[in-house]
Amino acid sequence: MNFEAFSLHPQIHAGITQAGYITPTPIQSQAIPPILAGKDVLGLAQTGTGKTAAFGLPILQRLLRGPRGRLRALILSPTRELAEQTHAAITALGRQTGLRSVTIYGGVGAQPQIRALKSGVEIVVACPGRLLDLMAQKAVDLRSVEILVVDEADQMFDMGFMPSIRRILAALPAQRQTLLFSATMPSEIRSFATDLLKDPVTVEV
Ligand code: AMP
Repeated sequence: MNFEAFSLHPQIHAGITQAGYITPTPIQSQAIPPILAGKDVLGLAQTGTGKTAAFGLPILQRLLRGPRGRLRALILSPTRELAEQTHAAITALGRQTGLRSVTIYGGVGAQPQIRALKSGVEIVVACPGRLLDLMAQKAVDLRSVEILVVDEADQMFDMGFMPSIRRILAALPAQRQTLLFSATMPSEIRSFATDLLKDPVTVEV
């Protein structure tokens, strides 16, 4: 199998080629088709499997259609390091698309993040705590989010982020596509996923 099989936009293929990807990884082969089809997906995959592109490529494809300058994809990450990596990967893959991503996390000044949000971005990669702060300040509006990714859900749980995530979920449109990735599937993550995902496709590598 190669990336042509997914019928992605040429601007996205340009990003794939620039990244040097030739063959989809197993998580990409399994997850990209149902995500492109608009399904909710439960992905059991660790970092290093190519999971970022597994959700990043279909997000870029979806966002190529429809309005620019409003927040349409929200990716929740447990750590600033993962948020930066995810942002960097999506920015690289989407270089030819003109779509914009910004990272939101604590421990650094909020003003540049607020300015970036104001400038009109389509993709936000956020850690839950700072995102809640910016929501309280009305610096971010989640009402136009169409697709949510909860990345490394088991890490989020271990770090005590679940109450924050539930507050973020309450501010999102009910009608949306939701993707949940986790390296492990303890019972608390399974029941969270059951609450969160509608008729999900499960992919496992
Ligand atoms: P991730 O699991 O998303 O953190 O990705 C792990 C690493 O694999 C990153 O350095 C990606 O750039 C790389 N990668 C992702 N997909 C592919 C692919 N299809 N072919 C080669 N490398 C890839």
